[in-house]
Amino acid sequence: MKPSKKEKIMKSRRSFLLKTGLSALAIAVPKIESFSGGSPKKFAAIRPVQDGPVLKVALMGLGSYAARVADAMQSWKRAKITGLISGTPSKLESWSKKYAVPAANCYNYDTYHQIKDNPDIDAVYVITPNALHKPHALGVAAAGKHVICEKPMSVNASDAKEMVEFCEKAGVHLLIGYRMHFEANTLKVVNMRRDGAFGEIKFFQGLSGFRIGDPNQWRLNAELAGGGAMMDIGIYSINGARYMVGEEPIWVTAQEVKTDPVKFKEGVDETITFQMGFPSGVVASCLSTYSMNNLDKFFLNGTNGYAEMQPSTGYGPIKGRTHQGPLDEPHVTHQTTQMDEMAAIILNGKKASIPVDGEEGLKDMVIIDAIYKAVKTGGKVDLV
Ligand code: NAD
Repeated sequence: MKPSKKEKIMKSRRSFLLKTGLSALAIAVPKIESFSGGSPKKFAAIRPVQDGPVLKVALMGLGSYAARVADAMQSWKRAKITGLISGTPSKLESWSKKYAVPAANCYNYDTYHQIKDNPDIDAVYVITPNALHKPHALGVAAAGKHVICEKPMSVNASDAKEMVEFCEKAGVHLLIGYRMHFEANTLKVVNMRRDGAFGEIKFFQGLSGFRIGDPNQWRLNAELAGGGAMMDIGIYSINGARYMVGEEPIWVTAQEVKTDPVKFKEGVDETITFQMGFPSGVVASCLSTYSMNNLDKFFLNGTNGYAEMQPSTGYGPIKGRTHQGPLDEPHVTHQTTQMDEMAAIILNGKKASIPVDGEEGLKDMVIIDAIYKAVKTGGKVDLV
C-alpha cells in the first residue's frame, strides 16, 4: 500500500532527526512541514536548471559566508544546494526551509559521514573556521564526495599537503574557494599579462586588510584561526601576487607590527608587511592587517604598462584601470560564477584559467608558513 502524505512526512521527520541527532530536541522543533522545504514544485522552481548535469552541493558550516554562497545559489545554473551540515539545529531548521533542502539531506557534524549513502549530494562546500577545514575535508573525502574548501585551505602547509594526498587517494576533487580566479576584470588583467601587454613584469603591490571587530570571534582565536590577518585576508595578496605576476616566489621577508597585544594574542597576527621575490627578478611588496579599513588594492607594473585594481578582491564590483583604459567588465556575483565554474571542473573536467585545486591552495600555505618563519627569524626565507 502506498504511504499516505502524513506517513511520508513522518518518515521524513524521523530521518531528519536521526541524521541530525536531534531526537532529544524533538519537542522543541516545529512541525515537519517547516523542515521539508515545501513541495517538490517549489524545490525545482527556485533553481535555474540547465541542460546537462548539475552539481549537487551540501553546505557545511552555516555562518555568514555560507549565507552569501547560499544567496548566490539563486542564480547558479550548473550547481544547486541539496544538503546542509550544521551543529546548530535551529539553523538546519531555518536554512532547510529557506533553501528548500529536504530534511533527509540535513546532517550535523556527528552524522555527516552518512552522506556517503546519499546520491543527492555530489560535493560538500566546507565553510567552517580555518582549523576545521582539514578534518572536515578529510571526512567528506572519506565519504567519497568532492570537497570544495574555503581559504585558507588549512592552517599550515603540512596539513594542506595531507589534504591534497588524501583527496587524491579517495579519488575526489579538492577545490579551494578562490572566487577571484573566475572574476572577469581579474581574468582580463591576467590575460593581458599573459599576452605581454604589460611587457616585462617588474613589481606587484598587494594591500589587504580590514578592521576586525568582536574580540571574542574565532578569527582571533589562534586555535581555530591558525593565525590572524594573514590567514584570513593577507592570503589575498599572496594569492594575487602569484596570479598577477604569473610566477611562484622563491623567497620571502616579513615584519610584524602589533599595536594591541590584548586583542591580538600570541599566534594571532595583527599587521604584517612582507616582500616576495620571483625568479625573473619581480619583487612584490604586500601588507596584511586586521587594523585598517579600505585596504583592498593591487598594483602591477611592467616595462610597457600597468594595472591597478581597487577594490581588488572584495565582493565587488572590482574596479580599476590599466594603461589601456578602465577595467569595466560587468559585475557578476563572484560566488555564482565560482560555483558554476567549479561544477564544470568537477562534472565536465573543465580546466580553470587560474587553477583552484588543492595544489594551488598548498602553494599559498607554503608561503604563509615561510612568512611566519621570516617574522620570527627576521631573515630572508628561501622557498626553493
Ligand atoms: P562564521 O563565523 O560566520 O561561520 C563559521 C561557521 O562555522 C558558523 O556557522 C559556526 O557555527 C560553524 N562552526 C562549526 N564548528 C565551529 C567551531 N568549533 N567553532 C566556531 N564555529 C564553528 O565565519 P565565516 O565568515 O563564514 O568564515 C568561514 C570560512 O569561510 C573561513 O575559513 C573564512 O576564511 C572563509 N571565508 C571566505 C570568504 C571568501 O570570500 N572566499 C569570505 C568570508 C569567509
